[in-house]
Amino acid sequence: MSKNLTSPRQVREILDKFGITLSRKFSQNFLIDKNILEKIMAAVCPEKEDNILEVGPGIGALTLPLAKKSRLVVAVEIDRRLFPVMEETLAEQNNIIVVNEDILKTDLKNLYAKEFGAGVIKVVSNLPYYVTTPFLFKILSAGLPLASLTLMLQQEAARRLVARPGTKDYGVLTLLAQYYCQVNLLFLVPASVFFPRPKVESAVISLIPRKTPPVEVPDIEFFFDLIRASFQQRRKTLGNALEKMLPGRKEKLQEIIRAAGISPSIRGEALSLEQFALLSNFLYNAISE
Ligand code: SAM
Repeated sequence: MSKNLTSPRQVREILDKFGITLSRKFSQNFLIDKNILEKIMAAVCPEKEDNILEVGPGIGALTLPLAKKSRLVVAVEIDRRLFPVMEETLAEQNNIIVVNEDILKTDLKNLYAKEFGAGVIKVVSNLPYYVTTPFLFKILSAGLPLASLTLMLQQEAARRLVARPGTKDYGVLTLLAQYYCQVNLLFLVPASVFFPRPKVESAVISLIPRKTPPVEVPDIEFFFDLIRASFQQRRKTLGNALEKMLPGRKEKLQEIIRAAGISPSIRGEALSLEQFALLSNFLYNAISE
């Protein structure tokens, strides 16, 4: 009989049976709530031709229902100890491939070519919190054909993804996500639905990659370098924060910022995505002159 992977009692039993103590280092807080699981499934809306990439399957609470409704689930899990567990918990499905890798080190293009071959993919994860920012940078800029990303995150990270300019949550992560995707915070998730219970609350967000970017920039790397430099020391004015992008030419820099219709004495956190794009275009041209 298949296990109920969202039953706290059964999860404990499975972990005991395999002698596994959960690791804090890997953010191993497993989902033990059927309602939240159903809400995530409704948000992902897996269809029978869908390819799914899951990060951190754990013992398979999301993996199993996703596999039942899709063509193929490729799940990347860092913790080798969980593989014998998944062999048992996921045994009833033959459309799951579990790869033992650190997602931050995985060559995503290779993984895609090897395991999916073609077609768009939906990304789903109860994301280990410590990988959130590097993972988002990696997956969004990898050039993969992504249909959607449905991610459970720490609430603080979710707020950063949907932040408005001028707020304390607004930053590099916001602009990255909003450049590549339409971002929606779907619902909040209390700490009580995880085993063991984490210290922080979570939220589920949906990112739908845009067909065309919302702004035109001459060079994406330069664009994000400019954004990073603007936020590196949040208290600095734009005129000071960007000095290293045009070393020794402070006046010229101020002139360029003004030419983009922006005051050099405001802080980077006040600029919208459109203003960053405009500034990036002016600066890029000045540097390439
Ligand atoms: N999906 C399961 C669930 O919802 O119950 C487990 C989620 S748990 C928050 C995070 C999972 O990600 C753990 O299984 C952990 O071992 C795995 N993990 C942590 N760091 C990882 C990494 N760098 N690459 C791949 N998996 C990772």
